[in-house]
Amino acid sequence: DREEPNYFGAGPAQLPTNVLQKAALDLINYNDLGLGIGEISHRSKDATEVINNSKEHLRKLLAVPETHEVFFMQGGGTTGFSSLATNLMTAYVGATGTTAPGGYLVTGSWSEKAEQEAARLRLSTEIIFDSRKFDANGKYGSIPDESQWCENIKGKKYSYVYLCENETVHGVEWPTLPKCLEDRDDIEIVADLSSDILSRKVDISKYGVIMAGAQKNIGLAGLTLYIIKKSILENISNAEANDALLAQLNVPVTPIAFDYPIVVKNNSAYNTIPIFTLHIMDLVFQNLLKHGGVEQQEKENDEKAKILYTALDACPDFYNMPVDPKCRSKMNVVFTLKKEGLDDLFLKEAAALKLTGLKGHRSVGGFRASIYNAVSVQSVDKLAKFATKFAKEHS
Ligand code: PMP
Repeated sequence: DREEPNYFGAGPAQLPTNVLQKAALDLINYNDLGLGIGEISHRSKDATEVINNSKEHLRKLLAVPETHEVFFMQGGGTTGFSSLATNLMTAYVGATGTTAPGGYLVTGSWSEKAEQEAARLRLSTEIIFDSRKFDANGKYGSIPDESQWCENIKGKKYSYVYLCENETVHGVEWPTLPKCLEDRDDIEIVADLSSDILSRKVDISKYGVIMAGAQKNIGLAGLTLYIIKKSILENISNAEANDALLAQLNVPVTPIAFDYPIVVKNNSAYNTIPIFTLHIMDLVFQNLLKHGGVEQQEKENDEKAKILYTALDACPDFYNMPVDPKCRSKMNVVFTLKKEGLDDLFLKEAAALKLTGLKGHRSVGGFRASIYNAVSVQSVDKLAKFATKFAKEHS
C-alpha cells in the first residue's frame, strides 16, 4: 500500500493505486493459475483474453467505429512515429501507385523529432509549418492560425499529415484538429496522442491513425497503442504484395515486428507482447469505465487545468506563462519564475509538502506540472495553493 502520491512527473507517470494493487496480485497469481500474468504464453487462452478485453474496453471508451482497428505493439512513442512513417508511405503507394511527402505540423519537440526520424529513414517529408517561425521569440508556445498555413497546402498531395496533439515538453496542445485538414478526403491525419490519450473525447472517424505510448495516461512503458483505419491496413498489404514497385520508389521496408498489417493479422501477438504491461493498461481502461469514462475524466481534467492556470495567472509578476492561452496543454502545465535564483527553493519547498516531479524539461528549464488522468483534483489544488503562497512570500 502507499499514501496517495502528488506526483507531477511527465512520464512515466503516476497510475491509480487501486490498479497497481490489483496488478501486483496478478503478477504473482493470475486467475488462480498458480502463475503470474507475466509468466504465461502470449498465445495462451488467458493472454488472448487480456488482448481481446483491452481492445474491447478501449473501443468502448473512445467509441471506436467499425471502420477502425485497435492494436498494440512493443516500443514507445518513438517506435510509434518511426513505424508510422514507413507504414503510411507504403499505404500511400498501395492506394496511388506513387509516393508523396509526409506532411508535418511542427508545434514542439515531439513533432520535430517525428519529422526528423522520417527524414532519417530517407522518406520524403515536408514541414507544413514550424510554429517557432510564427513566434515573436522564435520559440515553441503557440499554434499559428489556419489562415496562416492552410492556403499553402491547397491542392498538394501528402502520403499523410502528422501532428502531435499534446507536446509534452512545451505544454502546447491542439484544442481541436485543424478544420482545413479534416475537410480533405484525400489526406490521412495521423496523430501522436502519447500524452493526452483518454484525457478528452475525440472523434476517431477523423483520424487515419492514432498512436500513443502507454506510460502517461494508460500504463507502464513498453507498449504503444494504435487505432488505425482498416482501409490503410489494406493499402499497406496491397503495396507489400508488389515489392518491386516499393523498391523502385525507394520506400523502406518496415521491420517485421512493426509492420501494421502483420501485427493486426496476429491479434497483436506476432511476437511476444508484454502481457503484464497490457494487463495494467486494461485495468486502467476498466477503472476509467467504472468511473464515468472519458466524459467524466475530461470534466475532471478541465477542472484541474483551470485550478492550476488560474492560480499561476493570478501572479503575473512572479510566474511567466510561456504558452499562448489558446493552446495551453491541459496535461502539462509549463511555467517559469520571473525572478532568478529561486528555482531550487521552489522545488525544495514543494517537496517538503510531498509535491514532486515538478522540474521542467532540461531543454526548457523552469517547471512543468504534468496533471495526467491519475493525478487527483486534490493534488492539483494543493499545488495551486503552494504556488500562490510561494509567490506571495518571495515577491
Ligand atoms: N511523443 C510524445 C508526445 C511524448 O511525450 C514522448 C515521450 N515523452 C514520445 C513521443 C516518445 O516516447 P518514448 O520515450 O516512449 O519513445
